[in-house]
Amino acid sequence: MEQHRVPPDTPIDLGQWDPNDTGGSQGGKAEARERLSQLNKELERLQELLYAEHKHKILVVLQAMDTGGKDSTIRHVFEGVNPQGVRVANFKVPTPKELDHDYLWRVHKEVPGKGEIVIFNRSHYEDVLVVRVRNLVPPKVWGKRYDHINEFEKMLAEEGATILKFFLYISLDEQKKRLQKRLDDPCKRWKFNAADLKERALWPEYMRAYEDALSKTSTEWAPWYIVPANHKWYRNLVVANIIVETLQRLDMRYPEEAENLDNIVIA
Ligand code: ADP
Repeated sequence: MEQHRVPPDTPIDLGQWDPNDTGGSQGGKAEARERLSQLNKELERLQELLYAEHKHKILVVLQAMDTGGKDSTIRHVFEGVNPQGVRVANFKVPTPKELDHDYLWRVHKEVPGKGEIVIFNRSHYEDVLVVRVRNLVPPKVWGKRYDHINEFEKMLAEEGATILKFFLYISLDEQKKRLQKRLDDPCKRWKFNAADLKERALWPEYMRAYEDALSKTSTEWAPWYIVPANHKWYRNLVVANIIVETLQRLDMRYPEEAENLDNIVIA
């Protein structure tokens, strides 16, 4: 899984990353389904331990272009976990009140507490992505945000957060197929938003903005992973694997039991 990790201070050229990659997996979808189901069970166990230990805080950041599969990744990777202790925070176009504050204000309120996993469906990275591409603030304003973000995430890490950031990387062609599918399927039409086509037209600008974000904000304390996401089964496996391995490394323990439990007799 380390092959997907962006090393700190490394320039990223997304042209060199393959959204179709399946990691040389031979078994294909059926084997992947089986493996994902094992990972789901392991994540369920680890999340319960995390909740019981009440020590670590887990922040999972998901970013992607439209149709990149953020929602579906959340559904598949976190299938079966206890909803108590796991929460999704969505970041949409900021409200007037949010715009009255600094861009991290709404984000900080949503970070995980002890024992909790929080998944950011979009995040503060929108403030160096859509905001940059759409010129919503001048370059001298968004240009400072990479440093702010690194410092903000460092503070969270030093206060006990484990941060994992995933860029679900699909190709322009794959997005076309997925948008078309939304138009063709009556049950998916509600997801189609004509405004997404305007963002699609800015694909090269978005890729440059993603490259900069990935290069400048992948740190030891909050690494980015570029997840090949054209194949949904591989995307799910990569994300689930990285989360499970990271939680395993935390070496979590159930809290010490109270003394003299052995002598207790339930009447
Ligand atoms: P999603 O695509 O995540 O399922 P929506 O279709 O409601 O959800 O899209 C949310 C929109 O909010 C996206 O177009 C995104 O770029 C935008 N957005 C999120 N954060 C910001 C921000 N800080 N400034 C401007 N737009 C933002």
